[in-house]
Amino acid sequence: METILSIKNLSKRYGSVQALKDISFEIKKGHVYGILGPNGSGKSTTLGIVLNVVNKTSGEYSWFGGKMETHDALKKVGAIIERPNFYPYMTAQENLRLVCKIKDISYAKIQEKLQLVGLDERKDSKFSTFSLGMKQRLAIASALLNDPEILILDEPTNGLDPQGIHQIRDIIKQIASQGTTILLASHLLDEVEKVCTHVLVLRKGLVLYSGSVHGMSSNEGFFELQAEDSENLIQALRPHPAIESIKQEDEKVFVYLKSPLEAAALNKFLFEKNINLSHLVKRKHSLEEQFLELTKNASPTLKN
Ligand code: ADP
Ligand code: MG
Repeated sequence: METILSIKNLSKRYGSVQALKDISFEIKKGHVYGILGPNGSGKSTTLGIVLNVVNKTSGEYSWFGGKMETHDALKKVGAIIERPNFYPYMTAQENLRLVCKIKDISYAKIQEKLQLVGLDERKDSKFSTFSLGMKQRLAIASALLNDPEILILDEPTNGLDPQGIHQIRDIIKQIASQGTTILLASHLLDEVEKVCTHVLVLRKGLVLYSGSVHGMSSNEGFFELQAEDSENLIQALRPHPAIESIKQEDEKVFVYLKSPLEAAALNKFLFEKNINLSHLVKRKHSLEEQFLELTKNASPTLKN
């Protein structure tokens, strides 16, 4: 599959602030990628670097397999990384005509893109009369005028009311369904879950997870166990190769996995060590729990 953007060991320092630490990931054609992380985790910095508006400190990135200069590659990229900014006294259509003129794009595209973002009927209204959601939709139409290979959005629903949020997410999904690759930064887990196929989870400039959105929730899961002697149980569990970590809470022992393990197999393993469980349940974290676990400061898990 065609690689749109490849980032290798990217780091960024603003004075004493290390905003990005050794970030690597790849964007393949046709997927919807989310950069997910709390405020200050380095999302906008990452987008700024690949869009050539922020200087990297070290590392590499290349567009479209490195076949062209960044300047030329960026002509195939549509990006909205700031609040939409158009001429307030000009209509939506007039503003888009101006963009077409500057970027040497046919006016024929304007109608199609206004329709896509649901602003066709408001094309003759002045930009100053638009709600924030409409402004954001106009910005999306503007970024799509030259039919870019990839659309980049930084926190596209920030500040919008629920209806506005819903409209933007629907538009993003529609754009993706037409084959445009999308990269969006968001601090909202549900946004990434609803819109994206792939996710890079950042915290304090570090990649905590990179992969499919589905894979983030379909982790190997964990067991909830109970036996008469918890200490004995923990001792018996420690050498098991499928176990990532063990945590004790009150009477219960939680066992987190790094590779698949069925309840029956664990039960047999413990039985052979003369441990009889009074309680055994296998569970999986929801995506939200996974995200909170990933972005938490220190994890209280223990091993050995
Ligand atoms: P996010 O978009 O995830 O909220 P940012 O990329 O904006 O995160 O910021 C990452 C870190 O870099 C934060 O600690 C932020 O304060 C810092 N930072 C961002 N831009 C600048 C800048 N221009 N000068 C100094 N520090 C900055
Ligand atoms: Mg940001």
